[in-house]
Amino acid sequence: MSGAEEPNAKRSPNMTEVKFTKIFINNEWRDSVSGKTFPNINPCTGDLLCDVAEGDKADVDIAVKAAREAFKLDSPWRSMDASDRGLLISKLADLIERDAEYIAHLETLDNGKPVKDARGDVGLSVKCYRYYAGWCDKIQGKTIPIDGDFFCYTRHEPIGVVGQIIPWNFPLLMQAWKLAPALCCGNTIVMKPAEQTPLSALYIGSLCAEAGFPTGVVNIVPGYGPTAGAAISEHYDVDKVAFTGSTEVGHIIMQAAGKTNLKNVTLELGGKSPNIIFADADLDHAVETAHFALFFNQGQCCCAGSRTFVEESIYDEFVRRSVERARKRKVGDPLADESEQGPQVDQVQFTKILDLIDSGKKEGAKLECGGKRHGDKGFFIQPTVFSGVEDDMRIAKEEIFGPVMQIMKFKTIEEVIDRANKTVYGLAASVFTKDIDKALRVAHAVRAGSMWVNTYDVFRCNAPFGGFKMSGVGRELGEYGLQQYSEIKTVAIKVTKKNS
Ligand code: NAD
Ligand code: MN
Repeated sequence: MSGAEEPNAKRSPNMTEVKFTKIFINNEWRDSVSGKTFPNINPCTGDLLCDVAEGDKADVDIAVKAAREAFKLDSPWRSMDASDRGLLISKLADLIERDAEYIAHLETLDNGKPVKDARGDVGLSVKCYRYYAGWCDKIQGKTIPIDGDFFCYTRHEPIGVVGQIIPWNFPLLMQAWKLAPALCCGNTIVMKPAEQTPLSALYIGSLCAEAGFPTGVVNIVPGYGPTAGAAISEHYDVDKVAFTGSTEVGHIIMQAAGKTNLKNVTLELGGKSPNIIFADADLDHAVETAHFALFFNQGQCCCAGSRTFVEESIYDEFVRRSVERARKRKVGDPLADESEQGPQVDQVQFTKILDLIDSGKKEGAKLECGGKRHGDKGFFIQPTVFSGVEDDMRIAKEEIFGPVMQIMKFKTIEEVIDRANKTVYGLAASVFTKDIDKALRVAHAVRAGSMWVNTYDVFRCNAPFGGFKMSGVGRELGEYGLQQYSEIKTVAIKVTKKNS
C-alpha cells in the first residue's frame, strides 16, 4: 500500500510529539511580540501539523539585543576559555546524539524526507559540531616580520552578532553547518529557520540551553523571509549574515547588506549541476549514481545533478536503464523504512515542479516516465525522467528542485565542457569515466565549487563546500569555513631597543 494514502500509520506519539513552537531568545521561549502564529503544514497530507510563533522585526530586534549583550567583552561567552567553548559544542553534539531518533522523526514529520535519510542528517550534524568543537582552541594568527622595529601579529577574532537564514531542504544539517563554525569562532547568533521547517532548529535551541550555552549566544526566531528574514539582513546591529537558499533571495540579502551597514555576507545558493557520463564509464555504477545525484532528498538539493550529459554511443542504453531505475523508486510514507522518496516540502514547490514538468513536455522533451502527482493527497510527485532534453529548454536551465531528471546527449569532450559551463550557476559537477586524463580535464575545466569524479554528493565536515558564479559567495565547512566567521586583526607593537 502506498504511504501517500496512510502517512500516519506508523507514527508512535512520543517520536512525533512537537515540543517547541515558540521563539527562542536568551535561552527562553516566548510568544511573538505581535502574538501571531503561522501554520506548519504536514507535507504528507496537506493538513495542519502545528502553529508556530511568527517572529517579525520586533522579535528580531529583541534577539539581536540579546545576542549583542552576550557578545560584550566581559560576558560569560567572551571571557570563556576557547577550550571550554569547544566542550560546550561537544556537549551539544552529545545531546543531539542522545536524542537522535527523536530528532530524525521530527525532521521527517516537518520536511517529509524519508526517516532513514533524516537519520543520516542527524549523524552528519553531530560530526559537524564535533569537528568544529575541536577547532575552538586551534584558531590562531601569525607573527609577521614587517619592516622596522615592530612586533606584528594577527588575531582571529569573532565577527560579532551573526544572522543566519537557513532553508527547508536540510533543516537540521544546514543549521549545523552555520551554528557550529559561528560558535567555534566565538560569535553570537540570531538564526531564522525556514517557515516550512522550523521544528528541528527549535529543538536544537532547547539542547543549546541544556548544554549550558550562556544566555543570548544562540537565538532562534521562526518566521517568514520577507519579514523576519529581511529584518535580519537589514539590521544595523547584525555584523554578518549567512544565507542558504534561492539565488533570487541571495540577491535581496546582498542588497540589504549594501543598503544598510555593509555587513559581511556569505551565500550558498542554487545550482544546475552537470553530471557528465562518458561511454567508457562503468555503466551500472553511473546509472545508479546519476539516479541518486538527482532523486536524493526528493530532488530538493542545491547541488542536484540536474543536467545529466551522456555520451552519444551509450545514450539510449543509459536512458533505458535510468527509466527502469526511476520506475523502481519507492515513493511513500517517509516514516516507513522502505521508502526512498517522500513528499515535496510544500504546495508551492509541488506546483512549481508540476509546472516545470509541463513546460518540458510543451518544449518537446520526451517524458519517459512519471510526470504526475503520486497518490491523491500530500505533495508526492512521481519520479520523472525526460530524454531528448535541449540546453535551451526551461527544464535544462532552471532549478527544478524536484524528482525530475533531464538527460542530454553529447558527442565530444570540448562540446560537453562548453555546455556544462553555459549556466549562471557553479555549485557542483561530476564526471564518470575510467580515463584519468578525461576526468582531470573536465574536473579542472568546469567552473564549480565541488567536483566529483565517479561519485556524487560526497560531503564531509572537513571539506569545503560553496559556489562559483551565481551559486554563492564564500565557503562553508572545513578550515575554510572558519574564515567566514572571523575578523582578522593586525597588531603592531613598537619595539624599543634602548637599554631601559
Ligand atoms: P528561499 O530562498 O525563499 O528561502 C530560503 C530561506 O530564505 C528561508 O528561510 C526563507 O524564509 C528566507 N527568505 C525568503 N525571502 C527572504 C527575504 N526577502 N529576506 C531574507 N530571507 C528570506 O527559497 P524557497 O522560496 O523556499 O524556495 C525557492 C527555490 O529556492 C527552490 O525551488 C529552490 O530552487 C531554491 N532553494 C535552494 C536551496 C539551497 O539549498 N540552495 C534551498 C531551498 C530552496
Ligand atoms: Mn513543515
